[in-house]
Amino acid sequence: MRVAIAGAGLGGLCLAQALRGAGIEADVYERDPAITARFQGYRLVLDPVGFEALRSCLPQRWHPLLDAVVSDAYVERLVLDAQLNKIGELGPARSGTVVDRHVLRHLLLTGLTVHTGAALTGYDVLDNGRVEARFAHRDPATADLLVGADGVGSAVRQVLTPRTTPTDTGVRFVIGRTPLTDQFAGLSRAYGGKIVGDGVSLLLGAMRFPVPPKEAAEKLAPEVTLPDIHDYVRWAMVLPPNGSPGTLTAQEAALSRMNGWHPDLRALIERADPDNSTLLSIRVIEPGERWAPGPVTLLGDAVHATSPTGGNGANTALRDADLLGRCLMEAAEGRQDLLAAVDGYERQMFQYGGEAVRHSLAALPALTATTGMT
Ligand SMILES: Cc1cc2nc3c(=O)[nH]c(=O)nc-3n(C[C@H](O)[C@H](O)[C@H](O)COP(=O)(O)OP(=O)(O)OC[C@H]3O[C@@H](n4cnc5c(N)ncnc54)[C@H](O)[C@@H]3O)c2cc1C
Repeated sequence: MRVAIAGAGLGGLCLAQALRGAGIEADVYERDPAITARFQGYRLVLDPVGFEALRSCLPQRWHPLLDAVVSDAYVERLVLDAQLNKIGELGPARSGTVVDRHVLRHLLLTGLTVHTGAALTGYDVLDNGRVEARFAHRDPATADLLVGADGVGSAVRQVLTPRTTPTDTGVRFVIGRTPLTDQFAGLSRAYGGKIVGDGVSLLLGAMRFPVPPKEAAEKLAPEVTLPDIHDYVRWAMVLPPNGSPGTLTAQEAALSRMNGWHPDLRALIERADPDNSTLLSIRVIEPGERWAPGPVTLLGDAVHATSPTGGNGANTALRDADLLGRCLMEAAEGRQDLLAAVDGYERQMFQYGGEAVRHSLAALPALTATTGMT
C-alpha cells in the first residue's frame, strides 16, 4: 500500500510516522519551499488523548526523548487587570503537556520522505481505484490513498467536499515570544489566564524545557536533530472586534494598546523576538456532509479547524493521525479492505472532530471578553 499525504503539518507528519513504523510506504508533499520556511506558532498544550496519540505514532525508542522535552502545564486560570491585580477567574485550574511546536516538528520529520515546494493543486480518481495527485511544480504522484492534511485552506478538501468551507470568526490576534528571564518568571500568576485592559486581552504561556532539546536529543536519540532553543514566554493579544494593526508590526500593535500597563508586561512585549511575531485570524471549519467513499480522505484542520482559544486543534489532528494509521494498518494486514478502513476512520473523526470545533467556539467569548466577567 502506498499513501500520499498532502501537508507536512503536525497531523500529516504524525500519520507519516505511524505508517513508517508499520512498514507502509508514505510520501509527504508540502507546499512550503523548505520545512522551516514560515512562522508555525510556538508552544502547544496537549491533553492526555493528544499526547498519547502522538506517542503511539512515534517509535518507542524516541519516547524518552519526547518525555525529556515536554513539561507539565499546570496553571491557574486567573483574569488580571493591566496592573496584575486579580479581577476574576476564567475557570478551574488546568493541566496538560506543553510542547514546543518547532521541536515537535523536528522530531516528527526525522526519517521521513518529505517533498517540499510541492503544492497540491488537485487530484483524479483513476479507473483502477487508485488516485493521482497533481502539483504546481512537480510531476503527478499515484497512490492507493491520498490524505489531505493540508490545513484550513486545504486544496484536497476543495475537490473532495467543496461545500465545506472555513468561517471567519472576525477575531484577530497578534502573537510573539520573548526569552523567559527571571523578570518574566515573576509573571507566573498570569500564565494560562488572561490580562485585560484598553479593549484587549493578553494571553501568556510559558515554555520551559526540562533539558535543552538539542542536548536531550544528542544524549537520548542521536539520530534525531533538535533545534537549539531555550525557555520563552508566548504572548498573544486578542485585538478588539475588527481590529487590525494596519502598518504596525505585531509587536508595535501590542504595545500601542498597553499605555500605562504594568512595566513588566510592557517589557515582555518590548523584548520580544521581532522576527517571530505575527498577526493571525481565527477561521474555523465544522465537518459537514460526508463525501462519497473513495481513495481520498482528510485529517486535522483541513476538515475540523478549531479556534486556537479551544487549545484542541493539534490534539484532534494527532488523534486523527493515530486513528487513521491504525485503520490503515488493518487494511495493510488484510483484515479489512482499504475503503472500509477509511470509512471506519471517518465515522469516528466526524463525531469527535465536530465536538472539538464546537468546544473551541464555546471557549472563544471567555478569552476575547475584555472584562473580568466570564
Ligand atoms: C497560535 C496558535 C496556538 C495554538 N495552540 C494550540 C494548542 O495549545 N493545542 C492544540 O491542540 N492546538 C493548538 N493550535 C491549533 C493547532 O496548531 C492546529 O490545529 C494544528 O496545527 C493543525 O494541524 P494540521 O496538520 O491539521 O494542519 P497544519 O499544521 O496547518 O499543517 C498543514 C500543512 O499543509 C501545508 N499545505 C497547505 N496547503 C497545501 C497544499 N496545497 N499542498 C501541500 N501542502 C499544503 C501547509 O504549508 C502546512 O505545512 C494552535 C493554533 C495556533 C494558530
